Amino acid sequence: MRAMLTPPKTLALIAHDGKKADMVAFATYNRAKLAGYHIIATSTTGRLLAEKVGLEVERCLSGPLGGDVQIASRIAGGGVHGVFFLVDPLDKHPHEPDIQAVLRVCNVHNVPLATNVATADLLISAEAV
Ligand code: PGA
Repeated sequence: MRAMLTPPKTLALIAHDGKKADMVAFATYNRAKLAGYHIIATSTTGRLLAEKVGLEVERCLSGPLGGDVQIASRIAGGGVHGVFFLVDPLDKHPHEPDIQAVLRVCNVHNVPLATNVATADLLISAEAV
């Protein structure tokens, strides 16, 4: 009899430009844990995670081009188990409505959401996702 493999859980990772270095540092420190998940990310964040951290990443569009909306749709569809969205509150974003959509669907569907590194550290170290 063949053993049934459980598919990995999916995490969404997004970082605004001012937080991309923090995301790379977070992902580097937690690389072994993150490697056990299917990771989806906005385009530039995903490229950095692949190139600088060596993670396998499913890349969506860049945030300002609709990537946040793509990820929000995946969250709403029930396919995402946790979201690490490092927002930069000190910068302006042309896609602010899309950012709010990600935060909103996480709250609508009760999906764990970290918007800063301190909470991201807590979620991943507690293995809460
Ligand atoms: P990016 O998108 O990863 O493609 O930069 C994130 C964002 O800025 O919303």
